[in-house]
Amino acid sequence: MPAQLLNGKTFADAIKQEVKDEIAGLGYQPGLTVIRVGEDPASAVYVGSKVRTAAEVGIRSEEIHLDASIDEGELLGHVELLNARDDVDGILVQLPLPKHINEQTVLARIDPEKDVDGFHPVNAGRLMQAHSALVPCTPAGVIEILKRSGIEIAGANAVVVGRSNIVGKPMAMLLLNENATVTVCHSKTRDLPAVCASADILVAAIGRPGFIRSEHIREGATVIDVGINSVSDRELLTTFFDGEELDKRYAAIEKRGATLVGDVSWKAALNKAGYFTPVPGGVGLLTVAMLMKNTVSAAKMRRKE
Ligand code: NAP
Repeated sequence: MPAQLLNGKTFADAIKQEVKDEIAGLGYQPGLTVIRVGEDPASAVYVGSKVRTAAEVGIRSEEIHLDASIDEGELLGHVELLNARDDVDGILVQLPLPKHINEQTVLARIDPEKDVDGFHPVNAGRLMQAHSALVPCTPAGVIEILKRSGIEIAGANAVVVGRSNIVGKPMAMLLLNENATVTVCHSKTRDLPAVCASADILVAAIGRPGFIRSEHIREGATVIDVGINSVSDRELLTTFFDGEELDKRYAAIEKRGATLVGDVSWKAALNKAGYFTPVPGGVGLLTVAMLMKNTVSAAKMRRKE
């Protein structure tokens, strides 16, 4: 039987509606400020989507767009001003920043109580110690998908491929906090297919199109594809897609020059997994919804609600 696709839009819409309902009962409007530096086109799209979604759910949002030539000190000054503003509940600095700016220094300057991306070392530490924390949005979204789909996490063997600070590591911690038995893999892992094939829940956050293939997937496993890769090579696509899906991908290349592909081979997941998050239309849609949820949490935490 082909894998059941887990539709990210259904979950994201439900979360946004819950956030909207919660805000309606708060008696105040939470505020989110996004800082964007430079002209990276993908960042402009992401920030646009965050600001639009905030308006949809009733969060007052603001974008501060700064020139790419800004120096680190000046950017830190903007962050400090937002830390001090009482009308700002959430601060997000859109990554990547220009090369001359140290991202870690900037992220660490955000007040941890307003750190709605959950990248501050204090929030990372709180997550590791299983205390309440603002948690990175993408892995938090994966947990929502699993829970809302009724997939048992406690006791499951979970394998996370990728150990970045924004996806892999917080993903592993969240799964551990939900009582999964967690293995974290990376580029030096020996016999990756065998380790992955032991997973009841396999999370791929690698950044390589179609890297996870049939030999990585246990029959019936839940496969969560976090990867987002832009692919325009038609020949390469035939290794991950077939039938109607391949035709759709060719049409996307025809229209937009490229198609978005996850880290998991679609064909392999469809034939072997029990559940599978598609790309696009899976995990990616949860990230912005979880940012809204984090902004409300930050607003409530600051007011000790
Ligand atoms: P990253 O910082 O580049 O980390 C990639 C991880 O994959 C690293 O830990 C790396 O191992 C591991 N890796 C690379 N090649 C490998 C191999 N051959 N075998 C095993 N592991 C390997 O990437 P990221 O920021 O975590 O993002 C991962 C993917 O998720 C990207 O496609 C990104 O676009 C996507 N993403 C999606 C969302 C969303 O909203 N859906 C959000 C964030 C990221 P080493 O540590 O050993 O180098």
